[in-house]
Amino acid sequence: MFFLFGLTTREQLQFTGQSSCRYCGQFAPQQVVQRKTKLSVFFIPLLTLRRTRLQRCTRCGGTSRISGSEQRALASAAF
Ligand SMILES: [Zn+2]
Repeated sequence: MFFLFGLTTREQLQFTGQSSCRYCGQFAPQQVVQRKTKLSVFFIPLLTLRRTRLQRCTRCGGTSRISGSEQRALASAAF
């Protein structure tokens, strides 16, 4: 038998909210991105192995991992 396995990582923009940046300290639009790593067999994604939420500053590009409560706080400031 022959199986072809692989890992695929995709990022999807969820929304953009206003917040202060952890890196540059400026009040700027922050993108919330969901990153998923999936296991694929024969190039067909089957299982999500890892799911992380990222906050990315549109001013300086600083990226950090955020929790679900931090995402909800940013969503309340979304426009
Ligand atoms: Zn920044």
